[in-house]
Amino acid sequence: MDKSNELISIVAPVYNEEGVLDALYERVRAVLDGAGETWELVLVNDGSRDRSAEVIARLHAADERVKGLSFSRNFGFQIAATAGLDCARGDAVILTDADLQDPPEVYPAMLAQWRAGYDVVYGVRASREGETWFKVTTAKLFYRLIHRITSINIPLDTGDFRLLDRRVVNSLRGMNERNRFLRGMVPWIGFRQIGVEYHREARYAGEAKFTSVKKMLPFALDAITSFSYFPLQLATIIGFVMAAVSAVAILAVVLVRLLGPHEPLLGQATTLVAVLFLGSVQLISLGIIGEYLGRIYDEVKGRPLYLIQQSWGIPDPPLGRFAPPMGSASAGE
Ligand code: UDP
Ligand code: MG
Repeated sequence: MDKSNELISIVAPVYNEEGVLDALYERVRAVLDGAGETWELVLVNDGSRDRSAEVIARLHAADERVKGLSFSRNFGFQIAATAGLDCARGDAVILTDADLQDPPEVYPAMLAQWRAGYDVVYGVRASREGETWFKVTTAKLFYRLIHRITSINIPLDTGDFRLLDRRVVNSLRGMNERNRFLRGMVPWIGFRQIGVEYHREARYAGEAKFTSVKKMLPFALDAITSFSYFPLQLATIIGFVMAAVSAVAILAVVLVRLLGPHEPLLGQATTLVAVLFLGSVQLISLGIIGEYLGRIYDEVKGRPLYLIQQSWGIPDPPLGRFAPPMGSASAGE
């Protein structure tokens, strides 16, 4: 196959990564130029509060193959990645973290599998460096849970680092959900998928953003609600179990009343505990329904997925999904 006709896009969401971008560019360039590829690097600035936008502008001015996009505010990794995929023009698109935890040196192995006919080549973490015990353990538990309660098969120990063929990218562009969990959406799409093992390095500079429970919990909830009805079914299951227990208990009470000694059954504490237990189960069930309901509300509002403040080298950037077409006066250089 003639490499010269194929464009490879590298897409990296960027949030407060001013200290990383130069190194990212250098390593991407070294690897892809070394392999003789035609490529572009699409950096999506997700409302950074540091000088990331200026670094992107400078990199673009020095090398046209660096393209950039700045959001109007922070929209989160999943949406930044989506915007990057929307703007990338490559025949193959590699989605990567900007912090060099996903080493560019893995690209050739991914490209080789792509050229061998695979549509998705995801990075499998053979090892992790510089990450806390807490992060690694919660991630492990989370993926085991997802594995159990969803029907789609999310490969274990993979992140968002992956190569996507153009038709997979186009399929993703047709998926307009607001609560996006790309790690589940890509396996859902199907086609031929394969993993490539790599060693996840420590972050090059700056700070990790997904560290606290507060940051990771919404992500986990999005993932579960996007791909599983199990939490909703849980209420039904508990309901049936409780109904069965109650039926037995009612029968027992009646029998004791009719046949047993004629003393009243004592059990105020038991009643109280039973009421409290059922009350909690009902509140939790309501909360679970609320999680789904809130997400349905997000979908129904149909707001644009993201808003672009500025772009570098992207001719006609989308204003955001479902938003009205943009006039030519916006998104200046
Ligand atoms: N990121 C982003 N928006 C956010 C948070 C993070 O675009 O709101 C980017 C960040 O710049 C990096 C990637 O997502 O390129 C992964 O973030 P981080 O390294 O903090 O996560 P971790 O590697 O710890 O999972
Ligand atoms: Mg990282």
